[in-house]
Amino acid sequence: MVQSPITTQTVRSPSITLTAPSVKVQAIRTTNAASSTKQSAPEPTEPQDDDSESDYKKGSRLGEGTYATVFKGWLKTDPNFLVAIKKIKINPDYKDGLPMDAIREVKALQELSHPNIIGLHAVFAGKKQNMNLVLEFLPRGDLEMLIKDTQNIHYGPADVKAWMGMIARGVWFCHENFILHRDIKPNNLLIAANGEVKLADFGLSRSFADPYTAMTHQVITRWYRPPELFYRARHYSGAVDVWSVGTVFAELILRRPYLAGNTDIHQLELISKFVGTPMEDNWPGVSKLEGYVPYAKNEVTPVLGRDHYLRIFGSAGQSGIDLLMSMLRLDPRKRATARDVLKHEWWTSEPRPSKLEDLPRKGGGVERMGADLKRRGGELSEGRGDAVARKLDFGAGGKR
Ligand code: ADP
Repeated sequence: MVQSPITTQTVRSPSITLTAPSVKVQAIRTTNAASSTKQSAPEPTEPQDDDSESDYKKGSRLGEGTYATVFKGWLKTDPNFLVAIKKIKINPDYKDGLPMDAIREVKALQELSHPNIIGLHAVFAGKKQNMNLVLEFLPRGDLEMLIKDTQNIHYGPADVKAWMGMIARGVWFCHENFILHRDIKPNNLLIAANGEVKLADFGLSRSFADPYTAMTHQVITRWYRPPELFYRARHYSGAVDVWSVGTVFAELILRRPYLAGNTDIHQLELISKFVGTPMEDNWPGVSKLEGYVPYAKNEVTPVLGRDHYLRIFGSAGQSGIDLLMSMLRLDPRKRATARDVLKHEWWTSEPRPSKLEDLPRKGGGVERMGADLKRRGGELSEGRGDAVARKLDFGAGGKR
């Protein structure tokens, strides 16, 4: 069941004092992680010399990001309490040695505690004064992995609805707390052990409490970026994230990115062709934006209507398409807000969202795949394979 926005509580965590490494970052345990991950005892640790004063122990390396290396870790007093430790790379070129992304991430996550937002347990400084973020451990990969693995992962309309519900609730919660994520994409939607999808990677996030403050337009990965940012809008709102959620919705259905531009110009061309050409008549004021370039008459595509969406996303059903169209409106003022998204009738129409425990998972194994197929009426055994996996069968009127 998708919770109503009203029933989700705003829980503010105790604040974390974030200071530059020259002033020691205290090891502070916060209570804001929405859920702890209790699992089997972790494998032996790699020798680490920079966590001796913290409550957490670093284990094996999980991955490498642009500004951090991520390790598996656990609470020293409870090795079953697993965490992900993001060790921030210190770079003398950065202000105070810290990348802005790390500062933004901590600032946002200390404000946000919600089941669909990655939890921040603590921040501590290592011996070399590098900063470590102790995050909720999310061991089941991300949505991009599931979308791409058309060979092994088979999912249906109820699963898409469940994932979309979790994403929409996480984004709604950010906006309720005046935080824009500004990098929503399948790769930043991580999956917890219980199947819950969590909004992660807040490195580009910022507060938007003051509507008069100019913000940068250089945010959001290109395929998920809304038109106003290509036109260098400086005053924008939660609508930028909602566009991204719309493109993720489309991608979940298609199993490939809907608008995959190679360059910013190409991206604008794709938006114009597959959503509609931004013009004064569909977006009053657009031509006054700094980066707007008028379109030649022969380049203009009227805003695509329901028929177009039905052809491409027909499996989403009428109300799913209505929701998708409302998230992909060119004019950000007419685009659905995160609250509008959650109030949409799609959530309560058939099929109901899958339960967490029924959601497909990466590395589910043969047994799990068998269960998935059984649940979904044996898509593969009917010989439709990939072609069907790419086009979800929401069925007529949204029924399975
Ligand atoms: P990127 O966004 O480039 O993937 P990150 O720094 O966010 O960079 O993460 C690097 C890798 O570490 C991810 O691809 C993922 O495999 C792993 N990872 C990140 N956060 C977590 C987490 N909370 N739980 C488990 N693994 C994580």
